[in-house]
Amino acid sequence: MPEAMVASRALDSSSSASTQTVDAAVVGAGFAGLYLLHRLRKAGLSAVLLEEAKDVGGTWYWNRYPGARCDIQTIDYSYSFDPELETAWKWSEKYATQPEILRYLGFVADRYDLRRDIRFGTKVTSATWDQAAQRWQIATDNGAKVSCRHYIMATGCLSAPKPPEIDGVKEFKGEVYFTGRWPHDGVKLAGRRVAVIGTGSSGIQAIPMIAQEAAQLTVFQRTPNFALPAHNGAPPADRLGALEGDRAAYREQARWSLVGVPWPQQTVVSWQLSEAERRERFETAWAAGDLAYILTQLWADQGVDVDGNKIVADLIREKIRGIVEDPETVAALTPHDHPFGAKRPCLDTNYYATYNRPNVTLVNLRQEPVKAITATGITTDKRNFDVDVIVFATGFDAMTGAILAVHPITGRDGKALSDVWANGPQTYLGLTIAGFPNLFMITGPGSPSVLSNMAVSIEQHVDWVVDRIAALRDAGFTTMEATETAQAGWAQHMADCAMLTLHRLANTWYTGANVPGKAQGVMPYTGGVGPYRSICNEVVTRGMLGFRLSGPNIAEQCNDGEVVRLQPDVRLVLGLLAQMNLPPLETMGAQGARDFLNEFNKGRPSGRPVGEVGDGMLQGADGPLPYKLYRPATPGPHPVVVYFHGGGWVLGDQQSDDPFCRDMCRRTGMIFVSVGYRHAPEHRFPAAAEDGYAATRWIADHAAELGGKPGPLLVAGWSAGGNIAAVTCQLVRDRGGPEIAGQLLVCPVTDCSFDRASYIDNAANYFVTRGLMFWFWDLYCSPADRTDPRVSPLRGKLAGLPPAFVATCEFDPLRDEGVAYAEALAAAGVPVEQLKARGHFHSSFTMVDVVITGAPGRIQMAEALRRFAGLPPEVKLPPQRLEAAAS
Ligand code: NAP
Repeated sequence: MPEAMVASRALDSSSSASTQTVDAAVVGAGFAGLYLLHRLRKAGLSAVLLEEAKDVGGTWYWNRYPGARCDIQTIDYSYSFDPELETAWKWSEKYATQPEILRYLGFVADRYDLRRDIRFGTKVTSATWDQAAQRWQIATDNGAKVSCRHYIMATGCLSAPKPPEIDGVKEFKGEVYFTGRWPHDGVKLAGRRVAVIGTGSSGIQAIPMIAQEAAQLTVFQRTPNFALPAHNGAPPADRLGALEGDRAAYREQARWSLVGVPWPQQTVVSWQLSEAERRERFETAWAAGDLAYILTQLWADQGVDVDGNKIVADLIREKIRGIVEDPETVAALTPHDHPFGAKRPCLDTNYYATYNRPNVTLVNLRQEPVKAITATGITTDKRNFDVDVIVFATGFDAMTGAILAVHPITGRDGKALSDVWANGPQTYLGLTIAGFPNLFMITGPGSPSVLSNMAVSIEQHVDWVVDRIAALRDAGFTTMEATETAQAGWAQHMADCAMLTLHRLANTWYTGANVPGKAQGVMPYTGGVGPYRSICNEVVTRGMLGFRLSGPNIAEQCNDGEVVRLQPDVRLVLGLLAQMNLPPLETMGAQGARDFLNEFNKGRPSGRPVGEVGDGMLQGADGPLPYKLYRPATPGPHPVVVYFHGGGWVLGDQQSDDPFCRDMCRRTGMIFVSVGYRHAPEHRFPAAAEDGYAATRWIADHAAELGGKPGPLLVAGWSAGGNIAAVTCQLVRDRGGPEIAGQLLVCPVTDCSFDRASYIDNAANYFVTRGLMFWFWDLYCSPADRTDPRVSPLRGKLAGLPPAFVATCEFDPLRDEGVAYAEALAAAGVPVEQLKARGHFHSSFTMVDVVITGAPGRIQMAEALRRFAGLPPEVKLPPQRLEAAAS
């Protein structure tokens, strides 16, 4: 828009009445603010948009540095709310330049006549909640104040540039520029000596362009980043074809995807692929030039597991070595301190090759830190660099910076947002803040925001906020505020999600680590775009869960609570199972249920490699039984664990807990012998219990042949297998051996009483149901036998049993009987360690590599087994990972 028009708009507003009264005030005229204005108007709400810049564009208004482009394919980085808009605009490139994106946003502003409600050149200087009026009072540096019912921050996540943090900038006699505040009329770089400080996305885009113009370019790099070639050009025909073939389906897939780009969820994990297959996948991704693709499509464990991630990281390092000629520069450019994707990777055009140019020098600040900026250039510990221009590509006070830049924001009871957030941002859904009624954030901290395609997340947020405001109005409420409970619950869920991905392992602007003194913690929601959307929807369908709604002529409504109490991956698994609408197992008959589970298990990820897996036969109580043996890759002999699988004494076999046995074998360094005990209803009580005892005897007698270490065995089991393990410990104590050094009971059945709270609270919806457990009991054991300690070990004598580790899961009918057993063991003088796994369900620990959040619990189990066996602890983990799994 011409500057003259902008000026006249600003003048209009300054000459208006002293307070402008509207339903909603929006800050920021970028992607989010423009769509908000459009939606608010359509919902019949009066609105004003306050924008510091002189035109629309938000981040694309300010970031005009050479090479600035989007790095999500532009057909994805577009509005999707209006199909006519979509067909009215054609992108010229796969990754559009900043000027083209700015033109697009101007086109949108004009198409929906948005500018008439935008006050350009207007900065908000304070925002105060007026409790009596139930309105926000906004002061600005230009023109009328604003009084609004709803105050919406569409300020962007990366809008507040970080100060240089280097002494002496003021002394410098040359020119200083920030990539995030680049002059509109460009900068003359030709023939000049230029320094660029910073090698994040901005620096990596700008450096190759500056190198082509400048006489000499010196890049000051503190941390090397992963960068991938963008392979820019026309929008790829396949993606364009998919979009144009079925626009609605394409957009819908993006909305429910992991990062807001319509790629499917990967299910294949790295160890299921050969090295050649992995390389082929990687080369395809490298050639695709697409961050969302390489971050989600290689293998399922790349973003959640350090080993799966290292494979990608190593392949990228290999590429860097293949491009950059000077070995010292290769070493300096090779990322080493963070997993790939944990810090925002960059898309580039000729970035690494730029370092082969004779006019480009890389300075590794890890080896020679900057001492100061002087009148003539930059001084490091070792050298002086005289330059004419310094470009700071040093990034932003991300996610919270732009919100807190509107200072002060004062909520209910005079609370300042800067104080409330002193230890890091606290939000409900990243959309609202307790104590700040009717204040909304678009893509705020606590939402997927910067870990997603912003266009998709912005539309979802705007729709949610405007729909809620309109529904509130229609119901007669004027005020909406998140409760403290809901907000604390969201913080817990955020923390749980953060344990899932590798983002916590890198110091980045995602965690606030780039700004000295800023509170640290993963700020964006790492649980994914689709899951996040479903949670926001759930808040609404559960009656505005976690919000207090009030109004002058209506009774207050407060539906307090936490929207997600399950671990994020458990929520996904249960959601998928619910979608499948499977018939209850107990309606299938025993053989039908076995067949069904065999079929079902074919789709699960196979277990990780161990040294050796073998089959054999052992002697049970009434004949031979099959077993499966898992041997570690380390040299033997190893301690031996006798393992009993789950399945309610009816289902499963010696290999049905294969992933769990492999995982525990790897983590403990022990042999696991999984016993194929007899099942009901063909073999009813006490067949399974007696087989457990007989198998343990046989394994003890043959331990040496199996490669086991002489000495006591360990026993372990999950679910009904936990029951058999517990019973076995009692039987060997009473029948004179063999010696057991420790027992691991995972969600064990320990008693025949069904009236404990967990049987009632978790009777349905968590896979193992009350009805299923009744069926198992009926098939295995007649009512008259149920109090026998060989099936209800809680009713047996507990003194003199081996030390135990008892794991129970919060959302499991069997939780309370497991806890009761642990407590009874402790009361009987048995050393017991308990893991009460918050947010987990019955199968959390055995669904290895599906329920990733079960891993810390398995580490604790492995450590316990090693302790029982007298081995030193092997698994080292930051303490917070262990805490996350424990209650
Ligand atoms: P950034 O990723 O935070 O990178 C800043 C760079 O400056 C880092 O290399 C950092 O080093 C360095 N740095 C910061 N302070 C320094 C100091 N005092 N001395 C020396 N070096 C210093 O910032 P950005 O490049 O502006 O990118 C921010 C985000 O904006 C991106 O991650 C991306 O999400 C978005 N962005 C997107 C695009 C696009 O769509 N194409 C383009 C640009 C930006 P350390 O790593 O050691 O802190």
